[in-house]
Amino acid sequence: MDTHQSPPPEPIVNAMSIDVEDYFHVSVFDGIVPRSMWADMESRVVRNTDRLLDIFDEFEVRSTFFVLGWVGERHPDLVSRIALRGHEVACHGYAHRLVYDQTRAAFRDDVRRAKALLEDAGGRQVLGYRAPSYSITPRSLWALDVLIEEGYQYDSSIFPIRHDRYGIPVSDRRPYRVERTNGSLIEVPGSTTQLGSLNLPVAGGGYFRILPYWWTRWGIARVNEQEHRPAVFYLHPWEIDPDQPRLPAGVLSRFRHYRNLHQTENRLRRLMSDFQFAPLASVLPGCAA
Ligand SMILES: [Zn+2]
Repeated sequence: MDTHQSPPPEPIVNAMSIDVEDYFHVSVFDGIVPRSMWADMESRVVRNTDRLLDIFDEFEVRSTFFVLGWVGERHPDLVSRIALRGHEVACHGYAHRLVYDQTRAAFRDDVRRAKALLEDAGGRQVLGYRAPSYSITPRSLWALDVLIEEGYQYDSSIFPIRHDRYGIPVSDRRPYRVERTNGSLIEVPGSTTQLGSLNLPVAGGGYFRILPYWWTRWGIARVNEQEHRPAVFYLHPWEIDPDQPRLPAGVLSRFRHYRNLHQTENRLRRLMSDFQFAPLASVLPGCAA
């Protein structure tokens, strides 16, 4: 009998992340719910985020919460609860404007304002940023310089896929350090798996909700086993809220937004039984957390 077998490898801890915004903040509803109407809409983000906090407690999972500044400003107590319950507070910008639709100066104001108010409410330094709709693309790479100057240590806004609104299909699929003339930060792409020459998203959002659960489970296991690194999963609080008001968007947008909302919470529970998760900053090599 071989008594010198090495112990089985420790399971890889994946990154859990939530983009904290309300159902009406989503970019596909921009033309239907203008920003001037946001304050009049029924808000469900606090209830839905609290529900996520309870589910995470149940599974002893800690997550990163990329909070929209507009939400954090109205609900500083929610930001403080997220931090006090052991999660990482990061930034989803202030007004949910697509990066490539903003000037450099407007983008700087947006990320500076959001970072300051989230740090105030959460009581800790904000290290990470994720753009609305992953909108750092070839025409908005200048945003990385602004993030470095504004004190962000990592960014999670570049999706290495082809999509109608975002993505840089040729960019690196692994987390990597981006060197710019004014400094550097870590880029943490949404997780994909390669099939032939295609990068396919495997870990979160609409892909988690719309495709069958086995897709996500297979994809994360593939990233863990073949590439020996964490997958980065993401979800929004409104994705576990089947009773949210229905907005009159086009057929494709409605399909993407409303499909399988009633199944997502159970799928999330299943996911946390199948894999281990922690906040982004704690699974990223080189990130101070
Ligand atoms: Zn968003």
